[in-house]
Amino acid sequence: MSEQAQAVNNQETRGFQSEVKQLLHLMIHSLYSNKEIFLRELISNASDAADKLRFQALSNPNIYNGDGELRVRLSVDADKGTLTISDNGIGMTREDAISHLGTIAKSGTADFFAKLGQDESKDSQLIGQFGVGFYSAFIVADKVVVRSRSVDVAADQGVQWESQGEGDYTVATITKETRGTEIELHLRDDEKEFLDEWRLRSIVGKYSDHISIPVEILTPERDDEGKETGESKWEMINKAQALWTRNKADISDEEFKEFYKHISHDFAEPLKWSLNRVEGKQDYTSLLYIPSKAPWDLFNRDQKQGLKLYVQRVFIMDDAEQFMPSYLRFTRGLIDSNDLPLNVSREILQDNKVTQALRGACTKRVLSMLERMANNEPEQYATFWKEFGLVLKEGPAEDHSNREKIASLLRFASTHNDDNSQNVSLSAYLERAKEGQDKIYYITADSYAAAKNSPHLEQFKAKGIEVLLLSDRIDEWMMSYLPEFDGKAFQSISKADIDLGQFDSEEEKAQHKEAEETFASVLERTKTYLGDRVKDVRTTFKLSNTPAIVVTDGEEMTTQMAKLMAAVGQQAPEVKYIFELNPEHALIKQMADEADEVRFGRWVEMLLGQALLAEKGSLEDPSQFLAAMNQLLETA
Ligand code: ADP
Repeated sequence: MSEQAQAVNNQETRGFQSEVKQLLHLMIHSLYSNKEIFLRELISNASDAADKLRFQALSNPNIYNGDGELRVRLSVDADKGTLTISDNGIGMTREDAISHLGTIAKSGTADFFAKLGQDESKDSQLIGQFGVGFYSAFIVADKVVVRSRSVDVAADQGVQWESQGEGDYTVATITKETRGTEIELHLRDDEKEFLDEWRLRSIVGKYSDHISIPVEILTPERDDEGKETGESKWEMINKAQALWTRNKADISDEEFKEFYKHISHDFAEPLKWSLNRVEGKQDYTSLLYIPSKAPWDLFNRDQKQGLKLYVQRVFIMDDAEQFMPSYLRFTRGLIDSNDLPLNVSREILQDNKVTQALRGACTKRVLSMLERMANNEPEQYATFWKEFGLVLKEGPAEDHSNREKIASLLRFASTHNDDNSQNVSLSAYLERAKEGQDKIYYITADSYAAAKNSPHLEQFKAKGIEVLLLSDRIDEWMMSYLPEFDGKAFQSISKADIDLGQFDSEEEKAQHKEAEETFASVLERTKTYLGDRVKDVRTTFKLSNTPAIVVTDGEEMTTQMAKLMAAVGQQAPEVKYIFELNPEHALIKQMADEADEVRFGRWVEMLLGQALLAEKGSLEDPSQFLAAMNQLLETA
């Protein structure tokens, strides 16, 4: 059988994974205004393929087989209307082509696509964050033919992959003499501009200058007078020098931004970056970026995170998560070390002194980038906080040594604001603190509204003391790792031991004392009625419009923490509340005047029910509460 016939025999047609179909459809419809990026994506893939080959060559230099000058080439065939991007990188096997070009392997992809399709402008942003990679070829081509040969297989084990970008694709085994991948784009009728050499040169200059391998184009050879000789030659059309090895002063913002897109697969511009070369005890270069948009899978547990690792300019691995703590996992970028061995593996990185030192240095670097942004560019910082604040809130628990610095980067909603914006820093809070106030007061609740309207706030309002309003799920947990800031302790205002007595006048103090004495018997009756349903019954003067509340003391778990544990399926111990009555409230006065013990009991039920409802948002036994209330109303 001839090779050609065998290839046909081996041909099969396969359907795309449904997510790929969706991606193709959405991409073609939402990225039409920025079509040229397909070239960036394909060159970026070729450069990755070269990196991977170089990495394998570290342990097996023979692998190049005489073809060690890695590069990408662009060639056009005006008659056929095709543009071909070819590389001599690692290549793909038939199985690789099926799994890499027919499916999307990222976990959570299905969830991601479920969110798409309603709003075109949003879709295009989301797709940008998702990264369209290879599939972007179909923005400009109505047929794509990929021919590839993996470095691991013989010439007759090449693969040809072909698709019109609709429901399916074909794969066939072919003979390919050279290693690597070529991607032949059959340009759509209205995309023929990409056949033009000068158009291609300008796109490469714009997007791919920083790619470390040469991007070449076939140009006609000219004689001394500039006349074409009929011969042609490959001409390098990019700088072909890894960006981070260049002099910082010579790199433009545009170049930094394009490089970010290359390594992050993000379409949006980065918010900030920092390139640093360190020599001495450690010898490395780091290039770190803070994105402007959270990736779609920021909270996906299996999400790949981390920096690209290079050793002595050679690419070693993607997603080296050892160099960045999890609470800074939004950071993108790379680290190029001269201290790690070239044969470094993930296992070696795990507990390695160099890794530890680099991780510490990268962490500090990111935190100070954020600090500078927070101090000098509050608007940019607000963007950062909106996108990544929730991740940074994991910091106090994860990184003890940088806790104070992380705390200074946190932003909160506060009673100082009229709305729910999280923009109050702890230092701003402390600057506004009252004379003699030695605590940072906060409340945690299920929502901003619940926090803002909590009865616990009444005494703080009355005394003009600011309270931070925390309502993100993670807040309660975070606060348990933040005992203090700038020497001032944090204090949850739903705790019983809050004493704002120092801010009371002498007159108020005397009034309270008197009320307490006359109220003592009411407390006793309430305690007798409730028994061990509550931890204690007390008077309180912190309320103005509310008759009663429940609070917890220092040894008790807070309501929010108990809810948090229940939400993650853990058995939380039952919270025993302290029931506090406001003797100055009209309803409490009525209750105190009630001589009949049965009716007194109904008052207690109703007031305790209200207080629990305000604290927890729900009651274990609503019927008891409702019955008591109805009986009181009937006889009112
Ligand atoms: P990503 O690059 O984000 O992984 P792509 O859709 O661009 O996603 O590519 C999917 C996969 O196809 C790549 O991860 C790589 O394994 C493979 N691939 C794409 N282009 C090439 C190429 N030129 N050479 C070798 N493999 C490639």
